[in-house]
Amino acid sequence: MAYIQFLGAAGTVTGSKHLINTSNDGSGKSGFQVLIDCGLFQGPKEWRERNWRNLPIPANEIDAVILTHAHLDHCGWIPRLVKEGFQGAIYATPPTIDLCGIILPDSGHLQEEDAAFYNKKKKSKHEPALPLYTLQEAEQSLQHFKPVPVGERIQLAPDFSFRYVRAAHILGSCMVEASLGAATNTQRLLFTGDIGRVLDHKVAPGKVVHSGPTEGESADVVVMESTYGNRVHPKEDPLPELASLISATARRGGTVVIPAFAIERTQKFIFILKHLMESGQIPRLPVFCDSPMAIKAVEIFLKHDEEYTEETRSMIRRYGSPLQWPGFTFALTSEDSKKINAVLTPSIILSSSGMATGGRILHHLAQRLPDPKNLVLFIGFQAPGTRGFVIKNKSSEVKIFGDFVPIRAQVAALEQFSDHADPPELLQWLRTFRSRPQVAYLVHGEPDASSHLQETMKGELGWNVEVAEYLEKVEISHPLSS
Ligand SMILES: [Zn+2]
Repeated sequence: MAYIQFLGAAGTVTGSKHLINTSNDGSGKSGFQVLIDCGLFQGPKEWRERNWRNLPIPANEIDAVILTHAHLDHCGWIPRLVKEGFQGAIYATPPTIDLCGIILPDSGHLQEEDAAFYNKKKKSKHEPALPLYTLQEAEQSLQHFKPVPVGERIQLAPDFSFRYVRAAHILGSCMVEASLGAATNTQRLLFTGDIGRVLDHKVAPGKVVHSGPTEGESADVVVMESTYGNRVHPKEDPLPELASLISATARRGGTVVIPAFAIERTQKFIFILKHLMESGQIPRLPVFCDSPMAIKAVEIFLKHDEEYTEETRSMIRRYGSPLQWPGFTFALTSEDSKKINAVLTPSIILSSSGMATGGRILHHLAQRLPDPKNLVLFIGFQAPGTRGFVIKNKSSEVKIFGDFVPIRAQVAALEQFSDHADPPELLQWLRTFRSRPQVAYLVHGEPDASSHLQETMKGELGWNVEVAEYLEKVEISHPLSS
């Protein structure tokens, strides 16, 4: 019996790994084994520790990996899988491969830094902490990647093929439509990965990449994300509020500091800021993009114009490459970054990390938070326990580089810029399915979010919906066994 086993992102939102075994003889040995996504567990220690455990099957018995997109919680365990002996190919769209080319080495670098920090703190020479993988191992793992264009069907084994359909979550993101069996006798599986917002520039403004997941799908088994299963995004257009926050800060002579995720959110915001300036909704302030990874990602975005929305395409037609826009400065070196500290007239600083857990944003926050003229603006989710969460919740001070920095700047948050569909948007997409699946398994959600979405889908669509459990194996009937 063929099966799917949930090796991550079950009961949590990180560590996405779903194993398909096409075995037709009950032993599990003879089957083709493919991993959909190979993500890193992040967040609480209880989950992060699972990054160090072996998979239930040896890495060298996995034949292939198919990636949905380049977020670390979907691709960040690849260098470890390769280190454990995986020898197969890793399939991804060309933009996903380009993004992994910057994200995975950066992750390896951070793993090495963490291990070094721990060793320094522990000062024990007996059991030195090791990195999960090194920068060099991350770079080596990139050799396994094979590009797959969206829509092209790829036959990986006599009884297994797949093609990518659009997920509209970030640049290059796709769902995996897999077929088990042969010719007309197939079982269709759809792995959604993360699902992007609907096509609506008021409800989900500033989308740089294709909006709206591919409609009219049909599948026998759906494995679907549920990150926002119990939350609904605000439906009003956030741009007027954004414009008034920035304009008010400029009028009082302050600077706007925006912690932003380096991939997708920063690029989206560069386009939004340009739009607001050109339409006269905000003054023409200098914009500093201060994140080397975000700048490399801008270059990757520019290379993949096949991914753009019409809105983005027309902005580039009209104003040229964002890297050349007057007034926009891209601070690649740390010298460039330091120069921003000397700018004391109104400006806008976009920097990462998005939750202020590290990176160059810390310098800007340390400098700008004590002054009430300034504005710190959050445009993304802030997980409990992060500095971003502390600042957003209006504490009086926050610890940065060992010092307590007073929070006197204005703090604001806009919640509309998520790249995950919420339940009304998910239902809107699910209603376009051509037929009802036998079963849908919910993954990639906190338990409350998944069970809330389960009830919503059962009630609204009448589907058979299960919440996947960590390490659970679910059988899929192999079409050739009946
Ligand atoms: Zn994602």
